[in-house]
This record gives sequence, C-alpha cells and structure tokens, in this order.
Amino acid sequence: MQHIGIAGAGVMGRVLAWQCLRAGFQVTLFDRDPIERGDAAAYTAAGMLTPYCEVESAELMVFELGMQSLSLWPNIAKELGDDIGFQQHGSLIVAHANDMADYQHFNQLVQKKLSPTSEQLKTLNAAQLHLLEPELTTRFKQASYLPEEAWLCSQKTMAVLAKKLLANGVTWHEECTITDVKNHAISTDNEQHHFDCVIDSRGLGAKPQWPELRGVRGELIMLQAPDVNIKRLVRLMHPRYPLYIVPKGYDDLYIIGATQIESNDTGPITVRSSLELLSAAYSLHTGFAEARIVETRTNCRPSLHNNLPQINCSDGLIRINGLFRHGFLLSPALGHEVVQRLQDPNYQSHHTALMQQVA
Ligand SMILES: Cc1cc2nc3c(=O)[nH]c(=O)nc-3n(C[C@H](O)[C@H](O)[C@H](O)COP(=O)(O)OP(=O)(O)OC[C@H]3O[C@@H](n4cnc5c(N)ncnc54)[C@H](O)[C@@H]3O)c2cc1C
Repeated sequence: MQHIGIAGAGVMGRVLAWQCLRAGFQVTLFDRDPIERGDAAAYTAAGMLTPYCEVESAELMVFELGMQSLSLWPNIAKELGDDIGFQQHGSLIVAHANDMADYQHFNQLVQKKLSPTSEQLKTLNAAQLHLLEPELTTRFKQASYLPEEAWLCSQKTMAVLAKKLLANGVTWHEECTITDVKNHAISTDNEQHHFDCVIDSRGLGAKPQWPELRGVRGELIMLQAPDVNIKRLVRLMHPRYPLYIVPKGYDDLYIIGATQIESNDTGPITVRSSLELLSAAYSLHTGFAEARIVETRTNCRPSLHNNLPQINCSDGLIRINGLFRHGFLLSPALGHEVVQRLQDPNYQSHHTALMQQVA
C-alpha cells in the first residue's frame, strides 16, 4: 500500500486525504494548527458551490471542475455519513435599478460562456420570483435563477472530515509546523518524514516554495435575522465584487459576503467593508435592519496570477494550490485528478492548463 504524506490540512488537504483513503492509500497529514480550529482560509469560506455564477468572472475550467465537484459533494457527504450542511436550493441573481446594466451583462456572459441554448439560467418575472422567494418581491420585479447551485457549511465540513479521517486510520501531526516539502519528504522542526509521494496543499503557507502565490483578502459577516425568511442563495449585482447572501438554514443565520481586495492583510474587517456589506443586505431586505451581527470573518484566498488552480507534479511530489475563491467548489474535482495521478504516473488531466509536469 502506497503511503501519502499531505502537508496542510485545509479544505484541499482534508478532501484529498479522504479521497486517498477511499482509493486505498495510507495517509499521514501535517498541519501547524490544532485539528479542530485554525487560520486556514477554509474556516472563513461561505461554502458556496456555485459554478454557474462563477463563469461570469472565471475561466470555463473552473465551471467544468465546479460542476464535477457539485456532483461529487453529495457522494462525499453520504460517505462521511454526517451533516456537512449541504443544501441545493439554487441561486437567485437580482439587481437594483442602478445596477441593471451589470445584471444584463452577467446574464449575457453566463449564457454566452455556457451555450447560447443553455436552459440552466432561467429568467423569472415578479410572479415566478414570488413563488420561490416571496420576501424578495418587495424590492425586485425580476431575477435570474440557477436551480442546480448549492452550498455547504465550511466549518461543519472541516470538522466532519477531521473526525472521519481520524476514525479511518489517518495519522495526523497537529500543531506541527512544516519547514520544507520536497520529493518524498516532509520536514518539520525536528524530524524528516518519508513517503512514497508527498502532496503540498499548504495554501498561502507554501509561498516560500511557490513565490508567485499571493493573498486576496476576503471579509464576510454572519447575521442573525429573525425578520428575514429566504431559503435560496441570493447574489446581488454590485459594481465592485460578487455580493451574496447565504442562508444557513437554521437559527435565522445568513452569511453576507464577501469583499475581494488585493492584499495579504488578514486583520479585522474594515468599517468601509462592513458598511458596504450591511448596506447591501439592508437594500435587499429591510428585515436585515434588526439583525444581530453574530460574527465577522477575514482571511486571504491563496491565488496565482490568473486566479486558476494549478497542480505541479514531479517524482514523489505533487503541489496543488491557487484555489482562490473556489476551495470548496473545486477541491473534490482537484482531489480526483490527484488520485488519478497517484494511481497512474502517466495520467494527464484533460484540462491542459491544470496539471503540469515540472522538473
Ligand atoms: C471570505 C472568504 C470567503 C470564501 N468563500 C468561499 C466559498 O463560498 N466557496 C469556495 O469554494 N471557496 C471560498 N473561499 C475560498 C476558500 O476558502 C479557499 O479557496 C480554500 O480555503 C483554499 O484551500 P487550501 O486548502 O488550499 O488552503 P487553506 O484552507 O488556507 O489551508 C491551508 C492549510 O495549510 C496549513 N499550513 C500552511 N502552512 C503550513 C506550514 N508551514 N506548516 C504546517 N501547516 C501549514 C494551514 O494551517 C492550513 O490549515 C472563501 C475565502 C474567503 C477568504
């Protein structure tokens, strides 16, 4: 049985560890944080699995891998046998009068990138929107609807994956800082560990070996809003970044996110971002006026120059990074690619830009 060492137990590391286990590999994980909490970008994520919405700003590869993940997540949830907060009620895209041009542009772009005849993007009039989300019709008389889109709870998913990995025999070196990752070996402060193959999934922590990586700051706010009753994910057209409201589905909780700022700063949310996010929420539904601010989260998304993921392969070492704003959306599909490569060293992804052979 091949022994795989995984450096970094964020969402990529944990999903991949699970897929490696299912494929019959022995797995050892390393992370500088404790198993149940930490600074991984994964803990900050809203957990959206929205490949259609992402085509507006991303390459088609993100859509294709995202669609693959969208079909893999329900199976992973079933295998894990625990609640990861997976919900598939679709996304609604709405815009205020001032942002109608952005709304039309979004619709055109999505239709054009997918296929001119794609029926995945449905345009709803006020009566149709009322049937789905009656409370939105006070402010909006039309919407676009993407019924397949889904979301999960990032924190529950991280916790459930950890529990099941440990229960299934993964060795986990927690609170263990990695000093170097190279072919067949992971070095920590006081030891070098050897494996048949090593996978580096340290996100921004891999920057010393992958200097091109940069952080893209994201901030979001969790609100408890008993006066709001929305069941679907809502995207509100916004001139600067894709703004969304994700219903958690319990305790009247909603995530309002997320900013997208070129910065490595992980400090607390700014006044400007708070004002923008909260104003947008209030402009969508006045019920957010009396909502409680339960939590704010900030982190940096590990990103490459083109905001696309990349898998670099060499003998005994696979580096996977650049998941940007798509870690949950893409990790099952990317993990699947890596497992294929582990099983067959000649395997080449049909996404030619994704998997590179390096020296
Ligand atoms: C505000 C915000 C909202 C987001 N919303 C979404 C969303 O809705 N949907 C979506 O798909 N994605 C979303 N994302 C993006 C997602 O969080 C990232 O793409 C994803 O977390 C990247 O996964 P990763 O495993 O590569 O890195 P991380 O999750 O950052 O994990 C890296 C791990 O490596 C460990 N590590 C690093 N260096 C070392 C070292 N030297 N030694 C030991 N351990 C180390 C870290 O402790 C960490 O656990 C969001 C991100 C932000 C910031």
